[in-house]
Amino acid sequence: MEKDNLPTPGSVEAYLRSLPRRIRWRLWLSGRRYLTTRFLDRTAPLVVVAHSFQDASRAAQLALAIEQDWFLAPAASREAYEEILCRAPGLVIVQLRRKNLCGCLGHRHVLVNELPFVVAHEAFRAAGTGEMDIAYDRIGTWAALPISDGALDARFLAGSRLEEFHAEQFRLRVLSVLLHEINHLVFPQEPESSVRKRSLAFYREALAHYVESTISTMSFTIDRSFSRFG
Ligand SMILES: [Zn+2]
Repeated sequence: MEKDNLPTPGSVEAYLRSLPRRIRWRLWLSGRRYLTTRFLDRTAPLVVVAHSFQDASRAAQLALAIEQDWFLAPAASREAYEEILCRAPGLVIVQLRRKNLCGCLGHRHVLVNELPFVVAHEAFRAAGTGEMDIAYDRIGTWAALPISDGALDARFLAGSRLEEFHAEQFRLRVLSVLLHEINHLVFPQEPESSVRKRSLAFYREALAHYVESTISTMSFTIDRSFSRFG
């Protein structure tokens, strides 16, 4: 795809500003807000997080996961999504919810229904538009990999870093759900078992990598503080 045709945060914001005033007011008064973000090492897809103004911090955490946590994940784990991200629609709309009535963590949508982007579907046609929802709070209670997650927890229990670890763990879960749904968007026929296997492998590897690098920095800090008494 030509680089010029790819949506950018600027072109999406300009598009939103160009909407008829009554639509802009309707969205604003209903509390709808949009946050654009993308994976740091890729120009596409551009992710638009559609959220309520009350969920601004949740949207910011999702953006942090997409930007920072993706970038810090091991190259081999990111590689597993290379083809999927290359084929992904240029514009991916994420409807950020707290919970879904069905209890699912997320779904891909067959049709785009986020109001401004039903039309943008035309405006960004060259890039393609895809949509999903993510149940943010539901992900917090999801036991992704109970046994290995529990073992990792224990490694931080002794330290003061447990809270930081849980925040990272949560963002990696959110990121793996996002990747899982992008996988469904790109390959709708792929069986759930294989899509799930890929997203759980990403989560497991990225989390293990985070734990290893954090623990090695922690012991480095301890060594240094001890050396002052040496
Ligand atoms: Zn699935």
